[in-house]
Amino acid sequence: MRLLVAEDDTVIADALVRALRAAGHAVDHAPDGGTADTALATTPYDLLVLDLGLPQRDGLDVLARLRARGATLPVLILTARDALRDRVIGLDTGADDYLVKPFDLPEFEARVRALLRRGRDAQSRRIVLGRLHVDLEGRSAWIDGERLALSAREFGVLELLLRRRGRVVSKDALLEALTGWDEAVGTNAIEVYVHRLRRKVEAAGVAIRTLRGLGYLIEAGTTAAADAAIAHPPADDADA
Ligand code: CA
Repeated sequence: MRLLVAEDDTVIADALVRALRAAGHAVDHAPDGGTADTALATTPYDLLVLDLGLPQRDGLDVLARLRARGATLPVLILTARDALRDRVIGLDTGADDYLVKPFDLPEFEARVRALLRRGRDAQSRRIVLGRLHVDLEGRSAWIDGERLALSAREFGVLELLLRRRGRVVSKDALLEALTGWDEAVGTNAIEVYVHRLRRKVEAAGVAIRTLRGLGYLIEAGTTAAADAAIAHPPADDADA
């Protein structure tokens, strides 16, 4: 993990950098807001520790610019004891947690661990396969940045196939995943959803293979399988 500590107080900064390095992280130190802003714009960090009272460019400004660039890394802000308003604005601006100075190192380390865990969870909600990008939480998919038009059920099928990528997903498992909807879904409907989905994702170099009697398998880079599927529309799915 690569972390950035933006803190102008050298005593505090040294202590934080040392603690994070001892925990096995690569750590950069920015002593002012301008340096922090440049580092964040050019280096992919996994977490930012951000003092709000920074020279050159204050912490809230650094934070606002970071989020405006679309960066989603977790941010832990450090504030003075009496700056309640700063904490509120900081959280509103996109900070994930805050610590009030002075704080104990063990608490700092615990907050960092929690934020890094949360960051990893968020990553696992985004899946990239071939040129297909899927945000499971936002329930959206893109090919080369262009949003894919998927029905809720097509997305449901895609989600299950992706969550179990590398493995065969049975038609029954898909059926089960789509039940609980307002109307019953039959196995024929599953075949239709898979067929439609297959045609939509093939442009991303993603294939949904039919394994007769077993189910479906999603994978990247095997256009031959996708071609075969297109050449034999739904009938190809009938025995899955
Ligand atoms: Ca400061």
